[in-house]
Amino acid sequence: MTKTINPLAFNAAFKYAPAPESKTHIQLKPRYDLFINGKFTAPSSGKHFDSINPANELKIAEIAEANEKDVDMAVKAAKTAYEKVWSKMAPKERGKYLFRIARMIQEQARELAVIESLDGGKPIRESRDIDIPLVAAHFFYYAGWADKLDYAYPNKKPVSLGVAGQIIPWNFPLLMAAWKIAPALACGNTVVLKPAETTSLTALKLAEIIQESGLPEGVVNIVTGFGNTGAAIVNHPGINKIAFTGSTDVGKIIQKSIAGTNKKCTLELGGKAANIIFEDAPIDQAVEGIINGIYFNQGHVCCAGSRLFVQESVYDMVIRILKDRMETLIVGDPMDKNTDIGAINSKNQLDTIRKYIKYGKEDGAEMFQPSCEVPNKGFWCRPTLFMNASQSHRIVQEEIFGPVLAVQTFRTVDEVIEKANNTPFGLSAGVWTDKGSKIFNLTSKLRAGVIWANTYNKFDPTSPFGGYKESGFGREGGLHGLGAYLNFN
Ligand code: NAP
Ligand code: MG
Repeated sequence: MTKTINPLAFNAAFKYAPAPESKTHIQLKPRYDLFINGKFTAPSSGKHFDSINPANELKIAEIAEANEKDVDMAVKAAKTAYEKVWSKMAPKERGKYLFRIARMIQEQARELAVIESLDGGKPIRESRDIDIPLVAAHFFYYAGWADKLDYAYPNKKPVSLGVAGQIIPWNFPLLMAAWKIAPALACGNTVVLKPAETTSLTALKLAEIIQESGLPEGVVNIVTGFGNTGAAIVNHPGINKIAFTGSTDVGKIIQKSIAGTNKKCTLELGGKAANIIFEDAPIDQAVEGIINGIYFNQGHVCCAGSRLFVQESVYDMVIRILKDRMETLIVGDPMDKNTDIGAINSKNQLDTIRKYIKYGKEDGAEMFQPSCEVPNKGFWCRPTLFMNASQSHRIVQEEIFGPVLAVQTFRTVDEVIEKANNTPFGLSAGVWTDKGSKIFNLTSKLRAGVIWANTYNKFDPTSPFGGYKESGFGREGGLHGLGAYLNFN
């Protein structure tokens, strides 16, 4: 007879000793200005706002609030740099700057990871092992393309666009900045970037790296602020391309604003991914993938596997293993190397998640949360599982962007394809099965930009990423990511 370990008893008996990452090596200024034309410049409004640590609600630094006048200065600096320097520079020289920035990011990786976790709430293990290495990898990858565009697009005569306006969210702050800046620069464009209001600090540290790298002034400009700062970029006539990652609602506003202009645009928007487990899947491995897909990074992942579909015959086993595993997840201090689930990024986002947990209960799904304790101060949410969810439930239809998983069952392949595609979104999906034929059948029928098979949430600079339907259009990453920053003569 095999003996099963009760995870509750296990957790009570064995607690990890705290293993906090040191903060003594980081250098942060009490106040950050805007990065325009290679210099840190005070905002014309004279206003700054606080960036706080969501794990303890304490202020970390003050960030400048850019208005239309500041955005105009940044766009003009980017235009001048484009016309006078960057578009004229030999591509291999542009590549050298990108290589230099990539190496400097690697040298400062530890500091960047700590600041990312302090400012955004994600566990240090993730910013250290996933975010920052991928940031450097994106700069390295696109550095390599800078002088090979004619090989990437033979006989098509690729030319740069001009000034790219780039607006990014708070879930992968520095990684999203790298996704945007590296391909734009490799293709010969200059940039005005706006980070999210709750997570501007690593973008400003990147500005310091860029300054130190000797990149010609005005090639990268970073303006911090709120939604109206983003809108000022979108509406500025000097912008030739908008690259936006964020919510579907703001994506729609942007599309309306630029209708009738000749600004090029890529939109990376929300998601509601299906993660599908067949009865022939390696169940333990699949459960680990589900946990990774929805609970790590607090579910603040656009491609989070927030809808789980389990084949009926293995439903009881999957739920039992999933609940046991959830009991072992460590929620708490993002700076502790043992932490699995850190702080929710902001009070606003926590309110949204709580609203959906309430909807889940009201709509009749059965809720499970592990018994873990969460700190008193800061913004926290226990990993949450909803069983007996149905297609019409709001927790199944709408993006929550938090650690909340809704489970449904299915019997046949056709049924699960229909259910998985019954969503306004189409960003990503996951399939867990022993059969290659099933994987190929599903990947051709699921309407999602990225489909992982027997793994989840794996990223690489060489592979394109992007959505269908209300998840947006255009691809970032890989060769496809270059095309978004080029015209073809
Ligand atoms: P958001 O509210 O749409 O904000 C994204 C960015 O747009 C922020 O910098 C925001 O500034 C700015 N912004 C707000 N209103 C604007 C306007 N009217 N015009 C121009 N810019 C404006 O999204 P979020 O809540 O930060 O991020 C979560 C969303 O991002 C989720 O829906 C998620 O799925 C999506 N996301 C998608 C991908 C993808 O690749 N598809 C990746 C990551 C995240 P403030 O910060 O000041 O509001
Ligand atoms: Mg913050």
